[in-house]
This record gives sequence, structure tokens and C-alpha cells, in this order.
Amino acid sequence: MGGNAVVSRIWKGVLEVKHTLIDHSIGHEVARFETTPSLPPILADNHGRQFPYLRLSITDICNFSCDYCLPDGYKPSFKKTFLELHEIKNLVAAFAALGTHKIRLTGGEPTLRKDFIEIVQTISAEQNITKLAMTTNGYKLKKNIQKWHEAGINALNVSIDTLDAERFHKLTGHDRLPEILDGIDEAFDVGFNSIKINAVLLKGINDDQLEQFMAMVKHKPISIRYIELMQTGDNLDYFNRYHVAASGLQNKLLAQGWVAKPRASDAGPAIELSHPDYLGSIGFIAPYSKDFCTNCNRLRITSLGALRLCLFGNQGVSLRHLLQHADQQDELKALIEQQLNFKASSHFLALGDTGSTANLSTIGG
Ligand code: SAM
Ligand code: SF4
Repeated sequence: MGGNAVVSRIWKGVLEVKHTLIDHSIGHEVARFETTPSLPPILADNHGRQFPYLRLSITDICNFSCDYCLPDGYKPSFKKTFLELHEIKNLVAAFAALGTHKIRLTGGEPTLRKDFIEIVQTISAEQNITKLAMTTNGYKLKKNIQKWHEAGINALNVSIDTLDAERFHKLTGHDRLPEILDGIDEAFDVGFNSIKINAVLLKGINDDQLEQFMAMVKHKPISIRYIELMQTGDNLDYFNRYHVAASGLQNKLLAQGWVAKPRASDAGPAIELSHPDYLGSIGFIAPYSKDFCTNCNRLRITSLGALRLCLFGNQGVSLRHLLQHADQQDELKALIEQQLNFKASSHFLALGDTGSTANLSTIGG
């Protein structure tokens, strides 16, 4: 038996080693085995859930005034200094070392940060972060998506609650639907293979627009995500008026031959339906449904650097004092791991307990 060739390749810092065993007497390969040295173990809680996914809010500020979120627009309550670049770098390094491989930038409107590109580049340079997503209201998408993509954004969610331009204007305070839709086309042009659209399901505003959204996914790899309106500290009246369960639309689709896609092992709480005649898909995020929390796979960081274990929880601890220097990493990781012990098995939304979330602009949805 003869030589033993080793082929290695570095992909995002993950060393893949392929060993090929060659029998020189007969001149060809007799065995091949591949090893991918293990990634850091993924953060887990006491309920058997793993957390490979971090939602990072980088600002509370927003230029839109969506009726369910910031109906009067953003009003600064006190002078805040949102996480700075060096703090984001240290934060991401710690989470990456704890097994996080997906980060979503959110807000407020994350793209309002003047250093948005630098933030994206900094996170993208972290070798264990393989998926860097953003959620945006689509403001200036068309003009900037190429730069954002080049900087490292490789997954995109755009929030569009209605495909009726007038209703969109009324709901968000901005008459920008056509240019946001152009921005989505531009995103495909610059190389995104698929794009997610978030639509908060609102009684009488978009629950009668299933056909328009279906038409949108017919020929494009777009995934519509209907999100059930969530009650927050600020929006009780609005919630009572406009909340509608997602099950009605879901049943309509099932009756038309849509089927639930198999769930990936690391999938979050969304249920996604597909249909052979449609290139895209339609999904539902129904936080009031039974077992919603069972598949929770995400943690959140507020724009002021607090770790929030649940969108609707009261527990949150500031990490900011440990984000100042690279030599604080061990302490920072220990604090994050310790906090996971306090993650509750479920939220208490059904009991009207919205936790400490006044509106989702402070924590990013
Ligand atoms: N400004 C960006 C945007 O709108 O895409 C990112 C932040 S926004 C808070 C993130 C997502 O949360 C959006 O898709 C928004 O529609 C959703 N959202 C905000 N308030 C909500 C609520 N009360 N219930 C359900 N979804 C909500
Ligand atoms: Fe702004 Fe997004 Fe809230 Fe609308 S949902 S007000 S775009 S933060």
C-alpha cells in the first residue's frame, strides 16, 4: 500500500480535511474519508434548545411610523449611545466562540446607522459567522443593496405589510412601495438567490390580500412571512382591533394544495408552505400558537447591549461593560452562558404578559 494524499481547504476558517488513500501498486484510490473539525459547541438552555442565531439591534431609531410599532414616529426618550463598532466586534467574537453562526442586523431601521457598512464588514470578518442577515423597511434598498451585499450581507428580509400602495402609505407614513419593490428586483440582480418579505398580518388591512402575495411568489424565489401581530407594551388598543390568527390564511393555502415544507433541524418557529406551481413560498410566524417556543433558536441583543433571552421576557442583562476590550472575552462568554440558565420555556403572551417590550423597534422583532 502506497501514498496518502491530504487535501485541505479553508472555508470561512473552518478547516476541511480530505484524506485520500492511494494504493500505488494498482494506481488508484482505495479509500476516502473526510473530517470537518468540529465547530464550537452551540449555546444551549435548560430546556434542550440550542441557539445558533443572534438578532442584533443596532439602533432604536426609525424613519417609518408603522401603526403597530411606532405610530407617532421615533421619539427619543433620553440620550442613548447605541452599540459602537468596537463593542459589536467584541460581542460578535464572543457569540461566535459560543457557536453562533447566524446574525441578523435589525433595529429600529438598521440602515440608518451611518457606519452600517463598517458594522457589516466587521461581523462578516468573524470566521464562524456564515450567515449575516438584515431586516429592513426597504428604505434606500435599491440604491444600497449592492454595497451591503459586497460588505457581507448574504440574507435579506424586507418588511412589506401590504401590496396596495395607498394602504402602505397610510400604514407606514411613507409613500414608497414602488421603490421598495424596485429595490427587491435590484437585490436579485446583485446576486441574492432568495429574499424574505415580512408582512404583519392585520385584520382588514392585508388579510384580504393573499392573492396578491401569492402572485408575488409565483415566479420569484421570494418567501412571504406572515407574522401575527404581537401585543407589546404600547399597542394594546391596536392589537385588540387588528390582531387576526394566521390559521385562517394557512388553511386557505392548505385547501389549495400548498404543503408544509420539511423543517430543517435548526429551523426556527416559522412554518413554511410550498406549492409545485410556485417558485417561492409562504410562511407563518404565529407566536400565539401552541408550542411556538419549542423551536426557539434565537437570542437577542438590544441596541444598548443588553442580552434579551425572549422577545417577551423581562429578563435581560447588560453586557456592555464586558464589550470594551478584547481581553474581556472569557468573562463575557461566562456571563452569556450563565444567563442561558434563566431562559424560560415559553413566553406568557396568551396571558397578556408582554414582558418589558414597549414596542419592537427597541429590540428588532
Ligand atoms: N425597521 C425594520 C423593519 O421594519 O423591517 C427592522 C425592525 S422591525 C421592528 C422588525 C420586524 O418586526 C418587521 O418586520 C416588523 O413588521 C415587525 N414588527 C414590528 N412590530 C410588530 C408587532 N407588534 N407584531 C409583529 N411584528 C412586528
Ligand atoms: Fe420602523 Fe420597522 Fe417599526 Fe416600521 S416596524 S416603525 S419600519 S422599526
